[in-house]
Amino acid sequence: MLPKPLAALANALREAKDKAEVYVVGGALRDLLLGREPHDYDLATSLFPEEIMAVALRKGWAYHPTGIAFGTITVVVEGLPVEVTTLRREGRYLNGRRPSEVQLGGTLEEDLARRDFTINAMAMAWPEGTLHDPFGGRQDLQRRLIRAVGSPGERFSEDGLRLLRAVRLAAELEFRLEGETQVALATRAHMIRLVAAERIYPEMERLILSPGAAKGLTWLLQSGLLSLLMPEAVPLLTTPPDGTYHALNLWDHTMEVVRLTPARPEVRWAAFFHDIGKPYTRQVDDEGNAHFPNHDAVGAELVDRIAQRLRFPQAKAERIRTLVARHMFTFDMGPRGMRRLYAQLGGEGLRDLLDLKLADMVGTGGRFVADAYDAFTEFRKRLDDTLAQSTAFTVRDLKVDGHDVMAVLGIPPGPRVGEVLELLLNEVLEDPSLNQRPYLLRRLEELASDAKEPPSEDPPPDPHSRRDPH
Ligand code: ATP
Ligand code: MG
Repeated sequence: MLPKPLAALANALREAKDKAEVYVVGGALRDLLLGREPHDYDLATSLFPEEIMAVALRKGWAYHPTGIAFGTITVVVEGLPVEVTTLRREGRYLNGRRPSEVQLGGTLEEDLARRDFTINAMAMAWPEGTLHDPFGGRQDLQRRLIRAVGSPGERFSEDGLRLLRAVRLAAELEFRLEGETQVALATRAHMIRLVAAERIYPEMERLILSPGAAKGLTWLLQSGLLSLLMPEAVPLLTTPPDGTYHALNLWDHTMEVVRLTPARPEVRWAAFFHDIGKPYTRQVDDEGNAHFPNHDAVGAELVDRIAQRLRFPQAKAERIRTLVARHMFTFDMGPRGMRRLYAQLGGEGLRDLLDLKLADMVGTGGRFVADAYDAFTEFRKRLDDTLAQSTAFTVRDLKVDGHDVMAVLGIPPGPRVGEVLELLLNEVLEDPSLNQRPYLLRRLEELASDAKEPPSEDPPPDPHSRRDPH
């Protein structure tokens, strides 16, 4: 059933003018026919943008001319945003970007012919409910096929984003790519170069979050699209398993980890990127075992590059990078390390890191999975207990602050103040009961009395911290 506000809008458009045509089109119709809940609604109409806006104005509905050059007005009815678009006929395309011109006032058939895939090129007339399906979309829904409308090669050349939309849609619906459409994906992959990063990133994110993400990423690899979008990831395919821990090559392992992580953006992206540094750091020792020294740090740098190029939102890019940088943490970590981890990642980040770790372990397919799982469960319990007892994670949580440091040590503002706070934090991370103002002030006085000596350094990093193979 269609939501009430949509019906109200469709009725109002229909009554605006004698013989006005109104159709439910696009993803909503596709999802309704599939028995899935639509997540947004598109209407097509013979009315022109000014007439659509006039209807909204008369009814007191908010509207935004989202793409007025292309004839699209978003009308918000009782909180439901609906994209209403004037029927269009094909304009010319410039260089595989968006159409350089669209002509408003096409027929329904012309409008459907310029849509990307058969399952997206159907219309349901309002209010009769008659289905218009000139390209066999309904049959392709039944066969679970993504098929371009008309010649796939031409359609991909007109707008390179359709390459990604094909893969994303197939991954979301868990459909297959029709043969010619799949071939055209490879022969026209280069058209993706002409598409702006701002259009690419949202499609990529929907792809990585979809139930068929691993399959979709593999299509990107096989078609050559991945070598244009994220060339850094391609060598995963030809990096052999390390023999001891892994039974799968790196690409297959990565896909396994993607499948095993929950569908949240940061952890899914981190799953895809977690071993991206391995092909660049692989070394084989005298016994023939492979090692990947620093692959986490190298991977984090590669994430930076990719995220910048594809314009990931900054905050998200940083969270993904941190997950990749920290995915090699080991279960022998003590309370201080656990609190540091929490301070760096926050609650959600820590949850992502644990989900990534578990998927990484299980996704090796190797013979140590059962033992590793026990160690993981034990670690998670210790982590929960430790964090529940903790009161301070960063210098901001200390019961003394920079003013105290400056006053007691008699020093001016500067980096030394931060160093001293870090020193106190280290003690408190080790033993939370020390986070008491009198104790910390006493420590500051001690530091003041041996102020000539530099503050003691952090202990050197745990020499075993790179023992874990994942
Ligand atoms: P969803 O909303 O689930 O992403 P959708 O199919 O509704 O799926 P939209 O981006 O909302 O996707 O686009 C609405 C409709 O517009 C599509 O169903 C398709 O008919 C058409 N369309 C969108 N982008 C393109 C494109 N690049 N080339 C051709 N037609 C397109
Ligand atoms: Mg839509």
